[in-house]
Amino acid sequence: MSHLHLIDPAIAEAMEAERIRQQAKLEMIASENFVSRAVLDALGTVLTNKYAEGYPGKRYYGGCEHVDVIEQLAIDRAKELFKAEHANVQPHSGAQANMAVYFALLQPGDTVLGMNLAHGGHLTHGSKVNFSGQLYHFVPYGVDPETHRISYDEVERLAKEHQPKLIVAGASAYPREFDFARLRAIADEVGAYLMVDMAHVAGLVATEVHSSPIPHAHVVTTTTHKTLRGPRGGMILCKEEFAKAIDKSVFPGVQGGPLMHVIAAKAVAFGEAMRPEFTAYTRQVVDNAAVLAQSLKDRGFTLVSGGTDNHLMLVDVRSVGLTGKVAEHLLDQVGITTNKNAIPYDPEKPGITSGVRMGTAAVTTRGMDADAMSQIAEAVELVLRHQDDQSQINKALHIVRELTQKFPLYDNFSYL
Ligand code: PLP
Repeated sequence: MSHLHLIDPAIAEAMEAERIRQQAKLEMIASENFVSRAVLDALGTVLTNKYAEGYPGKRYYGGCEHVDVIEQLAIDRAKELFKAEHANVQPHSGAQANMAVYFALLQPGDTVLGMNLAHGGHLTHGSKVNFSGQLYHFVPYGVDPETHRISYDEVERLAKEHQPKLIVAGASAYPREFDFARLRAIADEVGAYLMVDMAHVAGLVATEVHSSPIPHAHVVTTTTHKTLRGPRGGMILCKEEFAKAIDKSVFPGVQGGPLMHVIAAKAVAFGEAMRPEFTAYTRQVVDNAAVLAQSLKDRGFTLVSGGTDNHLMLVDVRSVGLTGKVAEHLLDQVGITTNKNAIPYDPEKPGITSGVRMGTAAVTTRGMDADAMSQIAEAVELVLRHQDDQSQINKALHIVRELTQKFPLYDNFSYL
């Protein structure tokens, strides 16, 4: 029996229940993934005991000689993986990475262009309920009502009109590839900085399955836990000329002591992402998303923008007479975990929505392939079209059970 079971059975039992939930359900939330055992090992270590304010070689605490080695390895691997000039691996989360960049480059009240949350952007890209929208003057840009793709002409028009100091690109629910070169050209035209938040596609960028923002953006932020398949956390990559300002902004600007156990786990994940197996994985993620998208379309579902270039898709569930909220609930009943999500120009409130976001990063980590994606599409159709027919619901339950048993979690990481 583990120490945790002995000392705190209530927490241990809930953790075990969560482990079983992850094993028994199909995780289709586009921002989630399953880390390797090695990453899990790094997280539960004595590194959590250590205070290490500052940076390798320049700490405000003694006894940092070993954590210095770990953080330097994380920095070096991040730079190599993304071909970046500078890396700060300390942000506790994606939101804190974005906060640190704004704190470094902007003054309160400055004008920033950011993607509309309702069109796929993130809260930290200027939402009024977030610090970003309260401290800075964000002007939102969105997607074209017909194509559901970012209208770069519109971004350019807004940039010329509002003369922002910063343009923020990147999204939480955008199924298409970004044109980073065009965004940089727009930024240059108005003398703005370009920040790309590549949180969702970082794993695809690392393996050149998605074009890289690094050559184009002044600063790039990311989370480490989505397609990159690391621990929960954030990171900032930038050109050397911004290195000092960014480091100062993370610490002492917006954070205190770094989470050294998480930084160790980030280093492990970056090391894993450099292996050829990880490239095979991200290619499979994108191939699986393409198959799932096509299978859903073949079954009569409407997808925002008509499909996907990356790991995620937005299903417009009005095509089957449902709201996002109801669809999320129905799918959850058969063990398909998704999240309701606003679609562009959504007539429903954010708590209801007309869409469901689905991603393939987590199920692909379990080893699922194109055939599994077709089966998932079948299960989705069964439950969303036949919610009142128990025999069809049972068929969907059967598909989920078969798939989760055929692709067990933490038993088939081929690279470990
Ligand atoms: N940026 C983007 C594009 C995201 O999708 C997310 C999270 O979903 C974040 C930032 C925030 O990351 P975190 O939840 O680690 O703060």
